[in-house]
Amino acid sequence: MKNQGRGKLLLVDDIKANVNILQLNLKTDYHIDVAFDGESALEQVAKNPPDLILLDIQMPGIDGYEVCRRLKNNKNTEKIPIVFITSKNEEEDETKGLELGAIDYIIKPFSMPIVKARVKNLMQMKKQQDILENLSLIDGLTGIPNRRYFDLMLHHEWQRAMRTETALALIMIDIDFFKTYNDYYGHVSGDECLKSVAQALTASINRSMDFIARYGGEEFAVILPGTSIEGALTLGENMRQNVMNLGIAHKQSLAADFITISLGVANIIPKKEYGQRLLIEGADKALYEAKRNSRNICRRCSTEDMMDLQNICK
Ligand code: GH3
Ligand code: MG
Ligand code: MG
Repeated sequence: MKNQGRGKLLLVDDIKANVNILQLNLKTDYHIDVAFDGESALEQVAKNPPDLILLDIQMPGIDGYEVCRRLKNNKNTEKIPIVFITSKNEEEDETKGLELGAIDYIIKPFSMPIVKARVKNLMQMKKQQDILENLSLIDGLTGIPNRRYFDLMLHHEWQRAMRTETALALIMIDIDFFKTYNDYYGHVSGDECLKSVAQALTASINRSMDFIARYGGEEFAVILPGTSIEGALTLGENMRQNVMNLGIAHKQSLAADFITISLGVANIIPKKEYGQRLLIEGADKALYEAKRNSRNICRRCSTEDMMDLQNICK
C-alpha cells in the first residue's frame, strides 16, 4: 500500500547547495530523494513515485514548468502534489506555476520553518488522499469497478464455485496498440478511448452475476460464474465486435483501422489444490496467444495448458 511509514519527498534543483539545505532540514521527518535536472526528476518519479515534489523552475534542459506539465499530463503521476520553490518572483511566474497544477509556490530566499510547515500540511493531505483512494472500489476514470474490487470479487466467486463445484470463467482483455494510440492522438484522447471501451464492454454483459473491472492501465477483466469455456468465448467474441463497432479511428494500429481488443479466456472448476491465480494465469496465457497471433481476436487457454499451469499455481 502507498504511503506507509515516512512520506517520500523528491527535491529537484540544479544547485546542490539548495538541495543540501532542504535535505538537512527535512531528512529527519521524510525519506528524501534528490534530482539535479528535469530529465532525471522525471525518471525518478517514474521509477519511485514520491508523495510530494519540491521543484525548482530554472534548470538547464527541461525546466520546472515543463516537468510539472509532463507529470500532470500523465495518469500515473498527475496526483503527486508539486510545490515550486524558485527565485522567479513575478506575479505571472507564480500564476503560471499554479495554473500548471502546482499545489503551492514558494519564493526564494525562503524561510525554513515556513517550508517545513507547508511540507507537513501537504504530506498530511497526500496521506488522506491515498487513504481515500485505497478505500475506493470504483475506477476514477471509467467509473467501473477497479482492480481492488476485482481481487475481492474473484476471491469471493472462487470460494463459492469451490463450494458448489461449479465452473468459473475469466476473460482478460487488452487494447491493441494502445501505446501508439496515446503517442499519436494524445493522452486526453487515450483517456476518452478507455472510457468508451469500458462502456462498450459493460454494455456487452447481460447476466447480473457477470462482473467487469478495469484490471490495469488498458486492461480489463471479466469474471463469469457458472460459465463454460464456450459461453465465455461467445461473450468474448461479442465484446470484440462491440469494441470494433465503436469505430474509434486508430491509424497507427497494425491490427485494424479502428481501436480493437485482444482477449484471453480460461475456465476451471476451482479446487483446494490450486489457487485462484490459476485462472488469471490461464486467461493471461490465452491473451498472450491472441497478441502473438493477429491481435483483435479472442483465444482460449487449452485444457492441457490449464493442467500444466496447475502445477505452477499450487
Ligand atoms: P499491445 O497491442 O501489445 O497490447 O500494445 P500496447 O501498445 O497496447 O501495449 P503497452 O502495454 O506497451 O502499452 C499500454 C499503454 O497504455 C501504455 C500507456 O501509455 C497506456 N495507458 C495505460 N493506462 C492509461 C490511462 O489511464 N490513460 C491513457 N491515456 N493511457 C494509458
Ligand atoms: Mg497492456
Ligand atoms: Mg495493449
